[in-house]
Amino acid sequence: MKIGELLKNGKYSISFEVFPPKTDANFASVRTAVREIARLHPAFMSVTYGAGGGTDRYTLEIAREIAREHGVPSLAHLTCVASTRETVAQRIAEIRAAGVENVMALRGDLPEASDASTWAYRHAVDLVRELNATAPELCIGGACYPEVHPESRDQREDIRYLKEKVDAGCDFLTTQMFFDNALLYNFLYKIREAGITVPVLPGVMPITNARQVDRAVKLSGSFVPQRFKSIVDRFGSDDAAMMQAGVAYATDQIIDLYANGIRHVHVYSMNKPAVAAGILRNLSEIIGK
Ligand SMILES: Cc1cc2nc3c(=O)[nH]c(=O)nc-3n(C[C@H](O)[C@H](O)[C@H](O)COP(=O)(O)OP(=O)(O)OC[C@H]3O[C@@H](n4cnc5c(N)ncnc54)[C@H](O)[C@@H]3O)c2cc1C
Repeated sequence: MKIGELLKNGKYSISFEVFPPKTDANFASVRTAVREIARLHPAFMSVTYGAGGGTDRYTLEIAREIAREHGVPSLAHLTCVASTRETVAQRIAEIRAAGVENVMALRGDLPEASDASTWAYRHAVDLVRELNATAPELCIGGACYPEVHPESRDQREDIRYLKEKVDAGCDFLTTQMFFDNALLYNFLYKIREAGITVPVLPGVMPITNARQVDRAVKLSGSFVPQRFKSIVDRFGSDDAAMMQAGVAYATDQIIDLYANGIRHVHVYSMNKPAVAAGILRNLSEIIGK
């Protein structure tokens, strides 16, 4: 099912993100985690792309399994930077053949030591255009950044390019993780004012161990509120306590988003069925209403 369609039902819903294995040896354990998360019946599941080490093909394999074998709509991520037109055309053909109906069109992180003048794709908008031209039946998502993409000069410029990307054919947007909902509300106000009207899925990352904090913040540049820092300071050295506190913090963020008019939240569940289940348990009287 297309994500654009399932978002129209107006009910409170959740989706989960998983990532493919970084080595062939990890495939079996990732598959098990994916199956357990799929059994929780989220609205959809997304699969990231670009683990490197030749394991890119697992993205589609997992996305296909989620949709075909587990009956959960899936969203396959695809990056384009420094890829050739042939590689991208092949990936798009594979996505269509696998029966996956949703694609997250991404640029990907810039490779070091590569000559940008030779790239066929420089920005995600180039991939969105390609998808629209060659596979118009696919539902296309794009990434957006409530706290501004780190390469952007300022938010105004970031939103101008975001509008260009959406106008090229994005059906929805998913946000980078954020830990302070006020930043999301402010961002939504600004993009709506700029004329971006597609659904925006806020991305919430449950931080369930102290080591994850530095990694997540380094990756995303997200602001970490004092309230959250205190939780990590207090419980970070106790894995079970931090897990409970991290799930509770993410749940709290989600409830606040729902209370403020958001209907669908995307959770960066990081191949952790216990985290996904914990969040759904906390929302059992809300999801689906
Ligand atoms: C929801 C989400 C999912 C992600 N999933 C993955 C994944 O699966 N695999 C992975 O490798 N990475 C993933 N990423 C990370 C992403 O690849 C990086 O953040 C990357 O640096 C930017 O990707 P983008 O698609 O947002 O790029 P773009 O939309 O191209 O934007 C990148 C930068 O370029 C600017 N820009 C855009 N268009 C133009 C233009 N025409 N001219 C000049 N500047 C422009 C933007 O303002 C921004 O600063 C994800 C990020 C998010 C938020």
